[in-house]
Amino acid sequence: MKNIIFIAPPAAGKGTQSILLREKYNLAHISTGDLLREASLEDSERGQYILNCLKEGNLVSDDITIELLIERLSKDDCKNGYILDGFPRTVEQAIQYETILKDLNKELGVVIFLDIPKEIALKRIVGRQVCPSCGAVFNDQIDISKPKIQNICDICGHELQKRKDDNETTFNIRFETYMKKTEPLIKHYEELGVLYKINEVDKEKVFKQIEEIIK
Ligand code: AMP
Repeated sequence: MKNIIFIAPPAAGKGTQSILLREKYNLAHISTGDLLREASLEDSERGQYILNCLKEGNLVSDDITIELLIERLSKDDCKNGYILDGFPRTVEQAIQYETILKDLNKELGVVIFLDIPKEIALKRIVGRQVCPSCGAVFNDQIDISKPKIQNICDICGHELQKRKDDNETTFNIRFETYMKKTEPLIKHYEELGVLYKINEVDKEKVFKQIEEIIK
């Protein structure tokens, strides 16, 4: 199975689609946001630095992000293919990633750009609830995305949480960072001939289009 990279603004559905793909195609799901959230809990200067970046909605340094990524990519479950959710986020990261792929003898695969309007992304952010155990995403403000039992994950029964950076102020910073630093990646991957764009908000329709791309 091909490796998949998602490029998308915050709350475009990268996490949701990654989980659907993980379940159906047995791909490893690598979210640099999750890796960094975990590392932010360390009682160390590094942990504190990461925590501040996350709270403020700023990107964490390449050194730290890439160190965590390489460690994760070296695990066995990545051998059959993996999904990168949240990496690369800048052209510089993409260039470094190409060297890492050569070193690890892995393929770039396909890059999928999920595009959604800013207003929809904001609406999703405000009510977003995430399962810390299986990663499933729900929304208590959007009828079709509410969990069946309030605050409980439909999939594994764990209590749902709200991310600390899911508020309007941090969202605006994250969206601006996305426009400035991540959007230029689209041209980078277009030039490499590996970019596919999806302009759809419905979860099932997006998933079908992704399946067409990876077939
Ligand atoms: P996400 O879970 O993808 O929305 O990411 C949450 C936060 O983690 C971002 O706002 C950044 O602070 C940090 N982050 C995630 N991925 C990266 C990355 N590739 N480079 C730097 N910071 C990142």
